[in-house]
Amino acid sequence: MFDVTHAPEALAADRQTRRGVAFKQKTLKSAIGCSGVGLHTGKKISMTLKPAPIGTGIVFNRTDAGTKTGRIPARFDAVVDTRLCTCVGNADGLSVGTIEHLMSAIAGMGIDNLIVDIDGPEVPVMDGSAAPFVFLIECAGVAEQDAPRRAVKVLKSVSVIDGGILARLDPADDDFTIAFEIDFANPLIGRQTFEMTLPLCDGPDAGAYRTDVASARTFGFLEDVERLNKMGLALGGSLDNAVVISGNKVLNEEGLRFEDECVRHKALDALGDLYLAGAPLIGRFSGSKSGHAHSNQLLRALFADADAWTFVELDDHHALHQAEWRRAANA
Ligand SMILES: [Zn+2]
Repeated sequence: MFDVTHAPEALAADRQTRRGVAFKQKTLKSAIGCSGVGLHTGKKISMTLKPAPIGTGIVFNRTDAGTKTGRIPARFDAVVDTRLCTCVGNADGLSVGTIEHLMSAIAGMGIDNLIVDIDGPEVPVMDGSAAPFVFLIECAGVAEQDAPRRAVKVLKSVSVIDGGILARLDPADDDFTIAFEIDFANPLIGRQTFEMTLPLCDGPDAGAYRTDVASARTFGFLEDVERLNKMGLALGGSLDNAVVISGNKVLNEEGLRFEDECVRHKALDALGDLYLAGAPLIGRFSGSKSGHAHSNQLLRALFADADAWTFVELDDHHALHQAEWRRAANA
């Protein structure tokens, strides 16, 4: 079903040199902020990415919470809505939506610990891609912390099937691969496939993610934008933050950033949504026409089965080997 491109030789060589090397947790060197409109609310929102201690994970903090709890962990089990974006919420009823592009940048840049101060219910949409967030992380600088990086290793295949839609996680040796396929009746998009592998040691030089994926923008069809606007949704949506397609035309003057920008954006979304595992995954994700809801259901299915995953420390390849043995024992 997928056009499988094998991991380049360079990646295999890289794996060899990584054996026994410590991969430290990472945060930012300094705080950095941005502001912009929320895609769905259309409101101006300010956000600051702040360094966080070892073991924090990625945590949103609503600075406008008042007497309520503003803290919302960026985790799969805090997801409260996946209809138009991925939205996480807490017990006090506060939420942050459209987190997927920011989460994708954080995952792609290999950041483990971060507090995201935000003064509204939605991450600013910026240009509709993850590139502005990658830029912020690069400007702030990445700092290594004195603790090993922890990953979630997939030990057993889990899948979510919804009609003709599929989302699946399979075990893999060392890295995380995303393979995505879309198939639209629209003649401009049609069927597109894309595959990327993220070596887990990557930090500030997140190579292929930065050049091939981060700048792919969200996309929509003109008729859907009009329908959503009538429902009071996508109010911040414009040609500045989404590719808008009408029939076989791209309405954006500058055209597409990649010929297959749509499927690259779906891979970007999947990476962000799957980083809600709370740690990088070691495994292979296959998505066929899947969306935010399926990625979340997939993580819930993975963590519901204690035999399907294990934590590994990335500087401890004994742990990796143990996982291999466990997988072999389960087979
Ligand atoms: Zn998206």
